[in-house]
Amino acid sequence: MSATDPASNCALCPRLADFRDENRQHHPEFHNAPVASFGPRGAALLIVGLAPGLKGANRTGRPFTGDYAGDLLYATLLKFGFARGQYAARADDGLVLENTLITNAVRCVPPANKPTGKEIATCRPFLASRIASLPRLRVIIALGRIAHDSTLSALELRRAAFPFAHAACHAVGTNLTMIDSYHCSRYNTNTGRLTPEMFEAVFAAARQRLE
Ligand code: SF4
Repeated sequence: MSATDPASNCALCPRLADFRDENRQHHPEFHNAPVASFGPRGAALLIVGLAPGLKGANRTGRPFTGDYAGDLLYATLLKFGFARGQYAARADDGLVLENTLITNAVRCVPPANKPTGKEIATCRPFLASRIASLPRLRVIIALGRIAHDSTLSALELRRAAFPFAHAACHAVGTNLTMIDSYHCSRYNTNTGRLTPEMFEAVFAAARQRLE
């Protein structure tokens, strides 16, 4: 089994390692390394995103922290009791996740937010190890189709048997459900593809399954 978090200089994806080097030159104050998962290891809920945003998690070092997607995600987590404290878009804001862990399908920021299929596959062992490391896991929320597909592959399930659809619930293991959501990106919310109400419905479904 692979480590649950890659080394800070992981170079398994040459394009992403080069991009990291570039960002270290241009933004030396940024985190500029694979972003570790955030939350307690006894979590029953796992949220899988796509990849760090350049000026979000790649800057702050905490998943979804510091960009638009994080504003909606953390507000929703606080609303449904999956987090406590205050989200202030900084890794040191003291926010605590409750029974919830957040990770990404790809741990390094990709140019233009677009990892290649090969990069997604190369980083998958870290996702698989992360999933396997959570003994109390009962619900996975997959944010977007790439997270959905990569999670299915990490679980060694056939993608065709579990088609992606917003708010769809898939039985992906014994007492393990995956719930799909459109990604909470600025693009999806600005275009109306994902409304805050649609996003909240996904977390309400997760909360119901965890009760
Ligand atoms: S995306 Fe994952 S596998 Fe690729 S370089 Fe980053 S940490 Fe390593």
